[in-house]
Amino acid sequence: MPLYSYDELLNKARKGHYAIGAFNVFAMEFLPSILQAAEEESAPVLLQINPIHFYLADLPEYIRYIKAQIGKTSVPVGLNLDHGVSREVILQGIQAGFPSVMFDGSRLPYAENIEKTRDIVAICKAIDVTVEAELGMLNDEGLELTSETQDRLFTDPDAAAEFVAETGVDALAVSIGNAHGFYKGEPKLDFKRLRQISEKVPVPLVLHGGSGISEADLQKAISIGISKINIYTEMSAAALQRVKQLSKNDKDFADYPRVLFQARQAVKDLVKSKMKIFGSAGKA
Ligand SMILES: [Zn+2]
Repeated sequence: MPLYSYDELLNKARKGHYAIGAFNVFAMEFLPSILQAAEEESAPVLLQINPIHFYLADLPEYIRYIKAQIGKTSVPVGLNLDHGVSREVILQGIQAGFPSVMFDGSRLPYAENIEKTRDIVAICKAIDVTVEAELGMLNDEGLELTSETQDRLFTDPDAAAEFVAETGVDALAVSIGNAHGFYKGEPKLDFKRLRQISEKVPVPLVLHGGSGISEADLQKAISIGISKINIYTEMSAAALQRVKQLSKNDKDFADYPRVLFQARQAVKDLVKSKMKIFGSAGKA
């Protein structure tokens, strides 16, 4: 199938009350894991690359390769730049061939986030590139959640409505107790806040830091209005876990292609299980 647009994938998910899984293709060896999982589950999917992993490949060449692989699949697949934190990185991504980008101004003061996001949207709209932005800060430092930290970090529903109206973004990533990496303790999502955001914001909502959130909480978040969930940490951990197991059981641990194949299988199994939880399985 030809490359699908981010917009089309998310708006369909929003109407159908499921979420698109967005999985990082941080290294070329896990691209087949995600595409095979999507084919086997008949699931629409988004592939993402985070700029922190640009060093692993020649970016324009890698994107050409990814697009060629997408062209051979029978399910809808989109491609998104994850966490572009500056105008320069966004432009680098667009030049390399990303049809959609996430601009992350979430660490900036509110007015500056609006201004910079609006500037990115103006550039992207002119060349038909979709923009995801973020309002509110993820609790990546694992701070204790008090009413003070929640007010400071979490997405404010009224500000979210204003932010989307002022910037014209296509999707909004929210902070409701989610975080990147492994959670310190049980993640606690603020569903009441998510419901208020969902009622006020007219574009699809995105949940970063999907790794480590329980199946029940993910499904509840989807039922309230999350249309895209990012998964990275659990994929990386699944691959490493399989490699660890192999090294323990195998005295002659020297067959790298076999290890790579097993790591790919572990990632594929994980992606398939997420597609079932997200409800995107069977929606291709
Ligand atoms: Zn993220």
